[in-house]
Amino acid sequence: MATALTSFTDEAKIAFDTLSGRAAGLFSPSLRLGVTGLSRAGKTVFISALVHNLMHGGRLPLFEAQKSGRISRAYLEEQPDDAVPRFQYEDHIAALVDDRAWPDSTRAISELRLTIEFESASGWNRLISSGKLSVDIVDYPGEWLLDLPLLGKNYAEFSRDAFELAELPVRAGLSRDWRRLADTVDPRADADEMAARRLAESFTAYLRACKLDERALSTLPPGRFLMPGDLEGSPALTFAPMRRLADGRPRSGSLHAMMERRYEAYKTHVVKPFFREHIARLDRQIVLIDAMQALNAGPGAVADLERSVTDILACFRPGRRGFLTDFFSRRIDRILIAATKADHLHHESHDRLQAIVRRLADGAIKRADFTGAQVDVLAMAAVRATREGTVRQGRETLPVIIGTPLMGETIGGESFDGKTETAIFPGDLPARIDSIFEEAADAKRQPEPPIRFVRFRPPKLERDADGLKLSLPHIRLDRALQFLIGDHLA
Ligand code: GDP
Repeated sequence: MATALTSFTDEAKIAFDTLSGRAAGLFSPSLRLGVTGLSRAGKTVFISALVHNLMHGGRLPLFEAQKSGRISRAYLEEQPDDAVPRFQYEDHIAALVDDRAWPDSTRAISELRLTIEFESASGWNRLISSGKLSVDIVDYPGEWLLDLPLLGKNYAEFSRDAFELAELPVRAGLSRDWRRLADTVDPRADADEMAARRLAESFTAYLRACKLDERALSTLPPGRFLMPGDLEGSPALTFAPMRRLADGRPRSGSLHAMMERRYEAYKTHVVKPFFREHIARLDRQIVLIDAMQALNAGPGAVADLERSVTDILACFRPGRRGFLTDFFSRRIDRILIAATKADHLHHESHDRLQAIVRRLADGAIKRADFTGAQVDVLAMAAVRATREGTVRQGRETLPVIIGTPLMGETIGGESFDGKTETAIFPGDLPARIDSIFEEAADAKRQPEPPIRFVRFRPPKLERDADGLKLSLPHIRLDRALQFLIGDHLA
C-alpha cells in the first residue's frame, strides 16, 4: 500500500510539472532534446557538432529549414535550469577545432540552450508562430537511464537478480572476487561502514570489469556505480547486493538492514529525482550507439548491443506497472537511434551500417514491447574525421578512407604518431546483413570481424574564400536534425 501511495504522488508531481512546462511553452516555444547513449557512444561530440553547424551555417542540405534559407540566426542563451551544469560547449569546440583533439566525454548530466530564429515556410504558421525556437539539449549518461527498472524492485529482488547475472558463465570469472567476498560476510552481523565499503568497492570493480571486457558486456545497474557524477563516496552509493537471509527479515542494526536502507535511499534520492526532473520533461530523444565498436569486437558484442538498445527503449515505453514511465513515454514523441562514427567506413558501407542498425532497432522494439513514439534509425558521423580515396593494388582499385590515426593506434604492427595522414582500407560490411545476426545468435562461432577499426584525430577544418574556418564536417547530421527538430521549424 505504501508503495502505491508513493508512486501516486510521483505521478501527480510529474503530471503537474508536465502541464506547467507545456503552458510555459506556449509563450516561448521550447523543445527539450535528450541526448543519451552508453559511455563513449559519442554524445559530447554529437552535441558539439550539432551546435557548431547550426551556429556557423554548416552544410546541412537535408535539414530543410537551413537548406531553404529560413534560419536567420542560431545562438546560445542562458539555460532555464539553474541547478543543472552547463554543457561546456566552448571548451569542447576549442578541443575539436583548435587542438584537433577529442573533447572530454560525458560524466554526468549537463544542459545547453540553443535558440534558433527562423521564418516559417507557410503563411499561416508565420501568423501564429513567434519565429523563434529554443532547443534545450540535455546530455546524460545512458547508464543512469538503465536504473529505471530498479524502481520496480525491492532490495531482495535486486540482490537476487544481481547474483543470478553474476553467476552466468560469461560473467562468472569477472564477478568471482566479489562473490567470494560476499560469501565471507555475515549479513546478520552488526552494520559496519568498512564492510559496506569493501563490498561496494568490490561490486563496482566487477561492474567495471564487465564494461572493460572485450566482449563488451552490457551495463548493469546501479548506473551511478560506474558514472557517479557528484555522488562519489556518498552513503547512497555505498551498498552492494547481499545473499538472501534464510530466516526472513534482517535484524535492525545489521549489515543487511543497512544495505537495504541505502538501496532504498539510492532509489529515492538518486533514481526518482533524476527521472522526475529530467527524463519526464523531455520531448525528443536521440540514443547514440557505438555500432562500429561492436562490429569490430565481433558477433557476441552485436548481440549484447541489441540487448542494451532493448533495455534503453524499454525505459521509454508506456509502463505496464503504471509508475513513472507512463508520463514521459507520452511526452516523448520521437526517438532517433543513431549509430555514429560512420566515418570509419567508406560511404559504400554507410547504407549497410544503417540497415544493421535498423535490424538491431527492430529487434529491440519488438523485444521491448515498444509502442508509442515514432522511432527512426540512422548511420551518421557527428564529426567526419576522414575523407575518401582509392588506392591501386596491382590491377585492383580499392576504396580507402584517409585520416590521421591517433597517436599510439596500430594496424598490423605499424604504430602511428598522431601527425601523419594515412590511407586505410577499412573492410566492407557484408551485403547480406543477416549473416551478422546469425553469427551473433551462434555464440560458439567467433569469425573475424568484418571491419578494421582505427581511431582518427578530428579533421583539420577547411577555410572559405575569406580565410574563415568552415564548420565541422559530418555525415548525415542534417538528417538527424531534420527528424529531431525539423517539424518545429516548418
Ligand atoms: P560520450 O561518452 O558519449 O560523451 O562520448 P564522446 O562524444 O566523448 O565520444 C567518445 C569517443 O568516440 C571520442 O573521443 C572519439 O574518439 C569518438 N567519436 C565520437 N563521435 C565520433 C565521430 O563522429 N567520428 C569519429 N571518427 N569519432 C567519434
